[in-house]
Amino acid sequence: MAPHLVLAGARVVLPTGVVDDGRVVVEGTKIAATATEDADVLDVTGHWLVPGFVDIHNHGGGGASFSGTAQDVLTAVRTHREHGTTTLVASTVTDEMDLLVRQAGLLSELAEQGDIAGIHFEGPFISPCRKGAHSEELLRDPDPSEVRKLIDAARGTAKMVTLAAELPGGVDSVRLLAEHGVIAAIGHTDADYEQTVEAIGAGATVATHLFNAMPALGHRAPGPIAALLEDERVTVELINDGTHLHPAALELAFHHAGPGRVAFITDAMDAAGSGDGRYLLGPLEVEVREGVARLVHGGSIAGSTLTLDRAFKRAVTIDRLPVQDAVTALSANPARLLGLADRIGSLEPGKDADLVLLDADFDLKGVMRRGEWVVAPQLA
Ligand SMILES: [Zn+2]
Repeated sequence: MAPHLVLAGARVVLPTGVVDDGRVVVEGTKIAATATEDADVLDVTGHWLVPGFVDIHNHGGGGASFSGTAQDVLTAVRTHREHGTTTLVASTVTDEMDLLVRQAGLLSELAEQGDIAGIHFEGPFISPCRKGAHSEELLRDPDPSEVRKLIDAARGTAKMVTLAAELPGGVDSVRLLAEHGVIAAIGHTDADYEQTVEAIGAGATVATHLFNAMPALGHRAPGPIAALLEDERVTVELINDGTHLHPAALELAFHHAGPGRVAFITDAMDAAGSGDGRYLLGPLEVEVREGVARLVHGGSIAGSTLTLDRAFKRAVTIDRLPVQDAVTALSANPARLLGLADRIGSLEPGKDADLVLLDADFDLKGVMRRGEWVVAPQLA
């Protein structure tokens, strides 16, 4: 039997609270309740230990995208793992249907191998009024038979489809997704309040990057934001990079939904973990300057260059969220949405040994996935 590894002395963030001078025991790929006497002990005093981050909306990183080859996908996965994301759902962008079907086949193989946790289709079933960085000429109405084509192509690995439910076929598509156990996410939408309420009633459970690519909150026209925030069944995605959302908007959403209904996402594109320059987002050209990605034509924000370790640090240092609430939004909530809460999302015995080690300033110092160091800590 492999010797146990004990990570000792850290402030450990558990579902029940923060334990000072806590310890986490790793046995093989799992977290164990107790250690054997001959266990290796690694002193991580002065550090935080939190569960590995779970990203349900991510298009790429490290110069590679989830619309690319298998090698590209692995490069992007590796890049985000090095920033603490131990579970990741690969997001596609709007493209020709036959290309999306082909990409779904490729991604489904990588999901079956465990490299990614599944597929999120963002587009083509979205509103031309709120297209963001999606090709307008390739958008289409969410006809349930077309939606069905994509989930079939993903062979059981489709986790989420973002759609504009106010379009013809939208509500029926939400119903179809819910029946197939695929998350129907409302986003890139021009829906009003009532249309959004109807979509939630039909089974939509996620708001795709709340606030971004949807009508603003108005006092006479509260729009999708109010409907998505008020319903207990909905989890709202937030891109916490300081560019997509004003800190006050983030705080409003976080306090209204409560920590149990927020999922921090990256919505990252290729430049995450890479650098400034020219990139492609699906078929569209993107220029990244000082870490902000914008379409070359039109200037729309085109995804982020965020990694979840930075989202976490922002949440606890700039947004001043309690560490435990930030962990819930980065790990436990997305794990629950993916139906993986029995395996990941918290530091509890029996779960996968997926964890992130941070120093007192919340800078990343180590990443372990399934008991193996992705980033081995260099402790003084
Ligand atoms: Zn996206």
